[in-house]
Amino acid sequence: MTTDAPAKDEPTHLLTAIDDTLEAYCLDRDLPRFRTRQIREWLFKKRATDWSQMTNLPQTLRAQLASDLQLWSTKIIRHTKSADGTEKLLIGLADGGQVECVLLRDRVRRTICVSTQVGCGMGCVFCASGLDGVDRNLTTGEIVEQMLRLQMLLDEKERLSHIVVMGMGEPLANLDALLPALTEAHRPEGLDISARRITISTVGLPKAIDRLTSLNSHYRLAISLHAPNDELRNQLVPVNHRIGMASILQAADNYFNSSGRRLTFEYVLLADINDEPKHAKQLATILTGREALLNIIPYNPVTGLPYRTPSMPRQIQFRKILEASGLRVRFRHRKGDDIDAACGQLRRSQAAQQHLKDSPPPTDGQ
Ligand code: SAH
Repeated sequence: MTTDAPAKDEPTHLLTAIDDTLEAYCLDRDLPRFRTRQIREWLFKKRATDWSQMTNLPQTLRAQLASDLQLWSTKIIRHTKSADGTEKLLIGLADGGQVECVLLRDRVRRTICVSTQVGCGMGCVFCASGLDGVDRNLTTGEIVEQMLRLQMLLDEKERLSHIVVMGMGEPLANLDALLPALTEAHRPEGLDISARRITISTVGLPKAIDRLTSLNSHYRLAISLHAPNDELRNQLVPVNHRIGMASILQAADNYFNSSGRRLTFEYVLLADINDEPKHAKQLATILTGREALLNIIPYNPVTGLPYRTPSMPRQIQFRKILEASGLRVRFRHRKGDDIDAACGQLRRSQAAQQHLKDSPPPTDGQ
């Protein structure tokens, strides 16, 4: 039995297969086919939050739709807003699971970051998302729902410009659900965001990268490298043991050759672990000759984990060595620090608060 299928008496979650669901619905009830287009427009373009707002549908149809089709399957558990304009949602799923998603504001850019799994199975030692392993894959509808809910946070004049699949989970371990969600992000009747403004961030699963290549995908790919050699990467990214960097780089190069999209490599900078000059030099050597961008992310500390952010002089030293080698380097500045914007952190702090609330009150020993 699969946990993704709704029970018989539950309404269908519309966003999981929106066209199929609406077309079948209209056919069954002899409704004109343009109703599908109208409903899509309300959801993706006019940012409707409810059936009742869809005022070009007859009122009886709106009421009928509300009882037959489930528009939202999730609820917002927490909404936090940072001084720098970053907003974060902690989303509660129908089965009680929780995921996070983020809206980032940077000049004219409006970027959203979405999750693909509840937890993560990759086990990167420094990351909050994977500390408790993976519970399950998100459905297409749950991924699309994050996009729409984040879009609703925008002011009327703001428009979504970029999507990064860098939230909780390993996107390439859930491609079956992710790809239709990204199609909705990309298609003109959906969010209409160009494929080159959609980035999938992966720990590096060669078979899934090959699948993207064979599907002729044009999304940007970001590979989370974090180490310049297998020995160190095996320690930081345990799944590397059975994969190895050579096969990841090979799959990534093939993707670049077929898609023409410049690759991004991500490197979380951890004090005294992967931030030494020799690491920078080795990294430059393995990436040389590639049309790639190297994204250095100074570590965002996670409560309870022993890793630290390197000092500023150390970061600058690392950067200079890489730049001298001719690589394109960008340091990703942290955003939303005051709202636990790094992946998995809000969920953890919420869980900790819940734990405190659920614990019996301290007694005074009487
Ligand atoms: N599973 C995907 C998406 C993970 S989140 C992947 O591995 O790419 C996106 C990026 O943030 C990854 O590179 C991840 O390693 C990094 N990351 C995770 N926790 C972090 C932290 N506390 N500080 C900085 N970067 C972190």
